[in-house]
Amino acid sequence: MIITVNRPISGWEIRILDNGTAGRNKPNPNKLNFLANDRTCKIDGCSNPIRINRTSGLCDTHVEHEHDLLLELRNNGILIGAPSHKDIIDALINWSSSRNFGLLPFFSSLSFNTLGNVPDVSTLAGKTVHTGITPTTIDLIFDELIKVINNFFPLNNNSSYQPLQTSKGEIPAIVLAFTFAGLLICEESNRGDRWFSRIIRKDESKTTQLGAAMPIAYFATRIFPWGVEMNSSARNLTR
Ligand SMILES: [Zn+2]
Repeated sequence: MIITVNRPISGWEIRILDNGTAGRNKPNPNKLNFLANDRTCKIDGCSNPIRINRTSGLCDTHVEHEHDLLLELRNNGILIGAPSHKDIIDALINWSSSRNFGLLPFFSSLSFNTLGNVPDVSTLAGKTVHTGITPTTIDLIFDELIKVINNFFPLNNNSSYQPLQTSKGEIPAIVLAFTFAGLLICEESNRGDRWFSRIIRKDESKTTQLGAAMPIAYFATRIFPWGVEMNSSARNLTR
């Protein structure tokens, strides 16, 4: 299993844990046999045969990841359901527009530091092994994103702690930022193939999945000057 990461902030805890096969396991989108030169399933410990031209490199048993990252949010130890991406973005946009604080550089930095830097869950769990590559770990990735957050939500600034209304009750802005960063890591790892395309295939253009780009696309849609009313239909970019 992937080791649980817990990052506390101001009486809250943001935890990323591996739900294993009890999770909502997603298809593994990586083309592990992209060279089409192997006849054995690429999952560690599996010796099922595959057709040599099966570029997924996965036998029928292993089409889906057997790991699933889940974010948990706690307030003073009590489990609170994490607000959705949409909920968090809506709250942050309302908050920032009242203080003329542009969020675009923040989301842009989160994008740059997340997309392509988060290995898929099977790689993080050691189920797929890539010769010569030691994958990074989610605690290091989370700490990088927290550095981004600290640039935009300074720890010593009262406004970082302003409580914002969400579907899960009032949550401080900086806690929502931590939560959003954690959700990006989960999305990218559970659904993405950008790390594999960039690091293993050495060709990021082979990426087929949006992963964490999906919630960021919702933000981009909310702030883009469309010239038409878009707030309600933008929800189609969330799930
Ligand atoms: Zn297999």
